[in-house]
Amino acid sequence: MAHVVCEPCFGCKYTDCVVVCPVECFYEGEKVLYIHPDECIDCEACVPECPVEAIFHEDNVPEDWKSWIEKNAEEAPNCEVITEKQEPLADS
Ligand code: SF4
Ligand code: SF4
Repeated sequence: MAHVVCEPCFGCKYTDCVVVCPVECFYEGEKVLYIHPDECIDCEACVPECPVEAIFHEDNVPEDWKSWIEKNAEEAPNCEVITEKQEPLADS
């Protein structure tokens, strides 16, 4: 089980989520972050930090965003880990 970053994350200007993760399991895609499902310990610390409510427990991912479960699992291992708050990821 793990938490999953979903579509609202696209173009995030905040990255507040990564600072609170105790196991550093956020990975930086081009315009979105991913959570590595093998590393996330379901502590839920990141959930309230996300201003756009992009993070869900994989059991609670809204129907429209179910594909993000696989996307996080596929993409996270190919991205760099991100542990500090960053400048905006995109100009949106
Ligand atoms: S706080 Fe984190 S999960 Fe939420 S939109 Fe920003 S980068 Fe994505
Ligand atoms: S639920 Fe906890 S361990 Fe999982 S990504 Fe969020 S802060 Fe990290």
